[in-house]
Amino acid sequence: MKKFVCSRVIALCLLVILLIPGIAAPALASPHEPLRLQDDFYAVVNADWISDITLPPDRASISGFCELAREVYTRLLTDFSAMCPIETPGALGQFLAYWTLATDLDMRDAQGVDPLIPVITRISELTDFSQLNAELDQWVLDSMPLPFSLSVAPDMGNAQVYALYADGPSLFLPDVSYYHDPFGTMLLDVFAETGITLLEMAQLAEPAVIMQNALAFDRLLVPYGKTAAEASAYATLYNPVDMDTFASLGGVLDFDRLIQNLVGQRPAQVIVTNPDYFAALQTMFTETPFDLLRDWMIVRTVFDLAGFLDQEFLHTAGQFGNAIIGQSGQRDPADLAFLLATELFGGIVGDYYGRTYFGEAARTEVAEMAADLIAAFRKRLHTNDWLSPETIEAALEKLDTLTVHIGYPEETPPIYERFVLTKAKDGGTLLGNTLAFARLAREDNFARLGTTVDPTAWNMSAHTVNAQYNPLANTITFPAAILQKPFYSPNQSKSANLGGIGAVIAHEITHAFDLSGAQFGPDGSLSDWWTQADYVAFSEKAQAMIELFDGACHADGTVCGQLTASENIADAGGLATALDVLQSQADRNPEEFFRNWARIWRSVCTPEYAQLLLTMDVHAPGKLRANLQVGNLDAFYDAFGVTADDDMYIEPMRRVTIW
Ligand SMILES: [Zn+2]
Repeated sequence: MKKFVCSRVIALCLLVILLIPGIAAPALASPHEPLRLQDDFYAVVNADWISDITLPPDRASISGFCELAREVYTRLLTDFSAMCPIETPGALGQFLAYWTLATDLDMRDAQGVDPLIPVITRISELTDFSQLNAELDQWVLDSMPLPFSLSVAPDMGNAQVYALYADGPSLFLPDVSYYHDPFGTMLLDVFAETGITLLEMAQLAEPAVIMQNALAFDRLLVPYGKTAAEASAYATLYNPVDMDTFASLGGVLDFDRLIQNLVGQRPAQVIVTNPDYFAALQTMFTETPFDLLRDWMIVRTVFDLAGFLDQEFLHTAGQFGNAIIGQSGQRDPADLAFLLATELFGGIVGDYYGRTYFGEAARTEVAEMAADLIAAFRKRLHTNDWLSPETIEAALEKLDTLTVHIGYPEETPPIYERFVLTKAKDGGTLLGNTLAFARLAREDNFARLGTTVDPTAWNMSAHTVNAQYNPLANTITFPAAILQKPFYSPNQSKSANLGGIGAVIAHEITHAFDLSGAQFGPDGSLSDWWTQADYVAFSEKAQAMIELFDGACHADGTVCGQLTASENIADAGGLATALDVLQSQADRNPEEFFRNWARIWRSVCTPEYAQLLLTMDVHAPGKLRANLQVGNLDAFYDAFGVTADDDMYIEPMRRVTIW
């Protein structure tokens, strides 16, 4: 997701979808010993699908989510290919023009690294902190790399208004834990080798020295890096400091002037997401030679902007990403160009997709299902036997103020009206236009400070195959693209739909009451609405969920129970709530319900990608989401005759039910 604080805060979506590479899926069992679903439910339900999958070289993973995303991609590609940018008015026409620019690989190759040179020169010419300080606000607005970032997002302390957040930089490796194992050491070697090649291509002198300095600065950042588990506890990101204090943290960089130049006011406070890092910033700037920071900025730039340059640069930079996820081949540049354009114009593309492919009948049916699931969750709260009446009352208030977004938003964000492309014949390049749009987006973002948050706004595009709970708005969102088979189809049984989109909807509802959601109130602000005893009881139940998953084997690694706790709590609540609705159906079919639950989590991936997900993904691996969660429910044992002799069996004392 994008690097805004708000994006980190709302990163409660269902599944991280990345694309990964060329290994065959493992055989499930010998022909003589067929797997029984009582021993591995996921493997049996998905046996045919898994045996048919061979990862191509340009993919590190394929999942049910990926397949659906590919269908969405194909539909959009077909439609947009038939449109003419010149004859298409408004933002959609600008999207088509931008996509055309991105797809013109011959032109990009002819330009080579030329579009990058002014950006690199701007950094290379910096000689000291005072020079950087003099143009710091322009540096921020132009998306130039800095060892901190500023953005405006809903105030966790009062989610109706926007506040200013300050965040630390990301590391070169995907996660701080990679710095402490041999695979990470190998990746850093690939990073250095790839980066030096990019620096040579960017016509920089002494590329090895630049890389050495950049790596030295990256090492200074490592002690302050947060693990994915630490970052997932997003209430801990809320550390407001008054403006005087924040201004003092910048040391040689004038944070006070910077912020006033950016937002046109002196805010009372800034929310610091990583206080330890900002406390160290002043010393770091004082004791670190400026060359290290400057060269770190150069290296960041060549990697960050590679996707907007010629194919050689793009492919070279891609070697590092490939090493992380175990992918051997390169994605088709035309594919990447389309993804680039559809992501930048996400609100416009999503609007087109929703209006074209999502019908009112589907909206009505999914809305009814959501209402049924909220009612079922409400009933579960009413019959809860481990909370006091006061806490149940507070939970009900939060549930009753939950807003549901289905399909696509009524309006597109107005920022897109300002995205007007500079055409190639007027000197416009893909990189130049992208940076210009990024600046407009940043100006728009900073202008929001102190204004009221629009409760109807979406922060997920309608063509995204995913779903979301946003704790800062207390909303759940189901984009049009996920409202398809196998999640939902008017042509599959109600039982299957409940095991698919039904459980997904209830999963998002349950996020309002997971480890992080429990810390936010009905209006999206941080709030302690628990009695002390009830919160202790909740924590004990959450700990049982952590222990159920912690250490579970997957690929060549094990699951981190703490990292995946909130998602597992959401899965458990989602499945149990959807099952309640199923039980109320006259024509219920529990087998179809559970089978579709296992189906939506099917995936295969490379070992490297599996390791990345185990390290960073707040979701447990799909197979374990499918298998461990059903083992918590009596109805599963009844439906498939699972007994204590079977591998799917979980001892009753280890089974976890929270919501
Ligand atoms: Zn989730």
